[in-house]
Amino acid sequence: MSTRVDASCHCGNIRATFQSEGQPATRECQCSFCRAHASVSVADPQGSLVVHVADERKLSRYRFGVLRLADMLVCRECGVYVAAVMESAGKAFGILNLRAAAGTPLLALTPAPVDYDGESADQRRDRRQRLWTPTTLRTGEP
Ligand SMILES: [Zn+2]
Repeated sequence: MSTRVDASCHCGNIRATFQSEGQPATRECQCSFCRAHASVSVADPQGSLVVHVADERKLSRYRFGVLRLADMLVCRECGVYVAAVMESAGKAFGILNLRAAAGTPLLALTPAPVDYDGESADQRRDRRQRLWTPTTLRTGEP
């Protein structure tokens, strides 16, 4: 079974489409940022994630913590956290926040709680390259 999830922030400035040939598991990261957004994420290293931002001035690329390796893509207009993207070796890897895709059946699954607090920068980059989704980020009017 294949999976397609179309997500959007509340005002529609950030839109994202996740596609997978399977039904990927969902995860609930326990970090304080993800908990504050009640984030449930999905990723598939064999899948694809395309993020489109209509007005980049309304895009916040929030980074936090000690490692600061990924951009949390948050809409400045409506405040919704849609996706996280990390660039490494010229490629982008991302996860989608399913809370920005109300109605997706993936939210009916029980997400696996995950906690990555103990990782080094190398471990974190390596895990994301293995587990996150190949990602394309586009900006500007379509
Ligand atoms: Zn928005």
